[in-house]
Amino acid sequence: MNSWFTELQTKDMALSCRVTEILHREKTPYQELAVYNTVPFGRMLVLDDIIQTTMVDEFVYHEMIVHVGLNTHPAPRRVLVIGGGDGGTIREVVKHQEVERAALVEIDGRVIEAARKFLPEISSGLTDPRVEIIVDDGISYVEKNKNTYEMIIIDSTDPIGAATGLFEAAFYRNVAEALTEDGLFVAQTESPFFNRDLIRRAYREVAEIFPLTRLYLANIPSYPGGLWTFTLGSKRHDPLKINKPVLASLNTKYYSLEVHKAAFTLPPFVAALTK
Ligand code: SAM
Repeated sequence: MNSWFTELQTKDMALSCRVTEILHREKTPYQELAVYNTVPFGRMLVLDDIIQTTMVDEFVYHEMIVHVGLNTHPAPRRVLVIGGGDGGTIREVVKHQEVERAALVEIDGRVIEAARKFLPEISSGLTDPRVEIIVDDGISYVEKNKNTYEMIIIDSTDPIGAATGLFEAAFYRNVAEALTEDGLFVAQTESPFFNRDLIRRAYREVAEIFPLTRLYLANIPSYPGGLWTFTLGSKRHDPLKINKPVLASLNTKYYSLEVHKAAFTLPPFVAALTK
């Protein structure tokens, strides 16, 4: 097979990669779902022609969206993941033995099924007995659950369709209420090259609600521009004052204590988005 998958990363820029096999394609009630085998990235989950996760670089995203927050909170017992149907975020969450319960709220059950079948290395954590899988809209779910979680992780698609509300102030307010009194949350907040307005707005809105707001970075080559932001809102604990050891049992390939600290060192053009 000699064909190419192309993601239009912005309306004027594309990433193409050679596909060796189309493993799966379907139209779910929410989106077009595909799993390809590609030469540069291995197996790749694609929603509405946008790359969600790939075998080659998924560890960077999943480790960084999880361990920065879980290593900042002194005792995270209950964790909520919104989106993240591929299971990679949950896989990293359940590496923390102190987590007693992890809920995954994914709007599209077909994403979970496809990940179980075609991406077993990523979805492996979904079978952990502490994990509860809820197929529902994360926006209404947080509205209904108050004062419950030490950490909430928003592992969403880009702010289009069902995910639009996951980037809005009303949602961040409900996230704050769903957290315990010393809880914190992390959301993926897109590219500092191509989504500056979104990052600036999200940071400002989070800072209006949470006493502590921090932006941090990681490198994810399959995402537009490579450099990616995460926004953390915290009621009490500061990720810059981390005092927990990074356990070898986390078995990470990107995250370490040094990377945790370095991720908050922002180049001036990124720091400017927080002013
Ligand atoms: N790592 C990916 C990225 O940054 O592109 C995100 C991966 S994960 C597959 C994103 C998931 O969010 C999708 O499966 C999508 O169905 C889910 N999602 C979108 N809007 C949602 C909502 N309102 N509630 C729950 N899940 C949602």
